[in-house]
Amino acid sequence: MSGSSLSATGSSAWPSVTTGPDDPRIGITSTVPSEVLYAAGRIPVDLNNVFVGSEDPLAWVEWAESQGFPRNCCAWIKGIYTAAHRSGLRRVIIVSEGDCSQTHALGEVLRDDGIETIPFAFPQSRQPEPLAREISALAAYCGATPDAVRAAKNRLDAVRSMALEIDRVAWAEGRIGGAEAHWALVSCSDMCGNPEQFAERLLGILRHTEDPAGDAGPRIGLLGVPPMIDGLHDCVEEAGARVVFAEVPRQFAMPFPARDLVDQYLQYTYPYGVGPRLDDIGAQIAVRRIDGLIHYVQSFCFRQIADLLLRRHLPVPILTLEGDRPGPVDGATRIRIETFVDMLGVRRPPKEGRWR
Ligand code: SF4
Repeated sequence: MSGSSLSATGSSAWPSVTTGPDDPRIGITSTVPSEVLYAAGRIPVDLNNVFVGSEDPLAWVEWAESQGFPRNCCAWIKGIYTAAHRSGLRRVIIVSEGDCSQTHALGEVLRDDGIETIPFAFPQSRQPEPLAREISALAAYCGATPDAVRAAKNRLDAVRSMALEIDRVAWAEGRIGGAEAHWALVSCSDMCGNPEQFAERLLGILRHTEDPAGDAGPRIGLLGVPPMIDGLHDCVEEAGARVVFAEVPRQFAMPFPARDLVDQYLQYTYPYGVGPRLDDIGAQIAVRRIDGLIHYVQSFCFRQIADLLLRRHLPVPILTLEGDRPGPVDGATRIRIETFVDMLGVRRPPKEGRWR
């Protein structure tokens, strides 16, 4: 057995993790067709979730910086880098199209560290044939047959529908908190490495719903990459509003009927620029009766530029929050959220229940 470990790369901050060459786990840095991995008996590990779910995410960012990652590099990239090593992974899928250039550079460093990287692209033409080729190549690499992939899609669809039901109960009935719905949706990227156990946890959430939350305060949608700020949902609720839409986490749950895997990952909006996102967000503003949006942007992320187009084309007020490093909501952010919620409350005529 050979292994990879943080101590092997020069740090003694973390205990060594040793894995064998047949380790079924494959790290992912962004949502990819996990159905293919499960069809081949592999286990996807979403390194974003490993990072933010760790006991001290800030220390993980700092460890990556101690290895040479620059200060002005996205903290998600640094957290993912540490997560790949901390998890002792031998293989990581790098999304080479439809994610970001910092991921490309991350892939180069991981390869140099001795971790195998597997490319996967969401071709920007958004046409079925190129995407089908990418999925076939991933299936060939993993050793998944078309029948097994179809069966895995059915298996994961059933779990995804539970996460989407949690989302529905949260926004439509207010009987599940926004933070819990967010977790259920965002975890669909890898299903916590075990779809059946994940489904049990989702079932537990659905079985223990709360009394309906009042609908007096403004209804907020959360846009952009998943926030690194801890306690954002609580902060919004303490300000008197409710988060009823989590754009990107909902996309991870694939919230649209799809006839096959290619169709599913063509409808998935996140890799394909702002246009498909605007369509999706616009529809959800109407369906979920959203009064205002919080657009979370990550420091040093090119996706910040999309803020301009979201503001230009969406019909409700937007508060843009920038996060850099993991940590709790700071005082200035809290005040900005409170002011935004107050402003939405003033704009919202009580009788119609809508500000527009
Ligand atoms: S937040 Fe932006 S820069 Fe960071 S990994 Fe995601 S897309 Fe890349």
